[in-house]
Amino acid sequence: MSSYSIAIHGGAGTISRRRLTPDRQAAYTQALTQAILQGEAILKQGGTALDAVTAAVVSLEDCPLFNAGRGSVFTADGKNEMDASIMTGHDLNAGAVAFVKNVRNPIRLARAVMEQSEHVFLCGDGAEKFAQYCGLSFETDAYFFTQERYDQLLKAQREQRILLDHSEESADSVDKKHGTVGAVARDQYGNLAAATSTGGMTNKQFGRIGDSSIIGCGTYANNLSCAVSCTGYGEFFIRGVVAYDIACLMYYKNLSLDEACRIAIQEKQTQMGSDGGVVAVDAAGNVCLCYNSAGMYRAAIGQNRPLFVGIFEDNIALL
Ligand code: ASP
Repeated sequence: MSSYSIAIHGGAGTISRRRLTPDRQAAYTQALTQAILQGEAILKQGGTALDAVTAAVVSLEDCPLFNAGRGSVFTADGKNEMDASIMTGHDLNAGAVAFVKNVRNPIRLARAVMEQSEHVFLCGDGAEKFAQYCGLSFETDAYFFTQERYDQLLKAQREQRILLDHSEESADSVDKKHGTVGAVARDQYGNLAAATSTGGMTNKQFGRIGDSSIIGCGTYANNLSCAVSCTGYGEFFIRGVVAYDIACLMYYKNLSLDEACRIAIQEKQTQMGSDGGVVAVDAAGNVCLCYNSAGMYRAAIGQNRPLFVGIFEDNIALL
């Protein structure tokens, strides 16, 4: 048996240091710490990377601070439509859902698609029916309502804009710096897994789907290279096929995890005019937390690696 590692993100973006009060910073730190320790506990006890990333993402989905599950942003119609995907690196198995409403934990549904259906990608009403069939938990609209998210929608509509948590324009309030969530892990058996979940973009319409539910774009895992979960401007991450690109840079060009992530995010996404980041782990258990935005809510821990939690360039908590 070899060593395990896990890394998570809670979104990247133009996080304003000035507006992130000590209380808010402490709340994010606590939420990230709780999520990563839940994932780590599973790995420590000899559990799988798949169970670890599921547990970490469920914890973040249940926390209203992040744009996923309970804290999902509102669409133009005032709804919460969520996307999620999950993948295992030893067998390239994957499950994804898009456009789902009222499902408490979209990542559990993506996992159910992977494990209990013949398919990889389900969306909308069909995906919700499948969630019922699998006995997954549903919540009322009230569960997903947060005043700050709703105010964010009203502002976006006044300005006739579609807001990404990452956009500069939405930096006028710290409350808008809540992001998509994701996790990657390597377990003691050397297997990798990745999971990503999001509410997408504020004021999105016409059935818009982002990268988070698209295998190869927002999520990818392959034991021969790495596991990746992305956060950022979904349209650009789809066009850059970012998660798979990182795996390919490692597999075909023999680059290190750090170098592959740097090229995909700091070079290519920057050149495309996009911002965001990734958390990634490779087959040897190395972890990379890489972004080209002002900050990224992120954390990592491993058997041989102390807990790291960060928002900006510098660490905000080290245990
Ligand atoms: N990538 C997500 C999307 O475009 C948003 C995010 O990462 O915050 O839906």
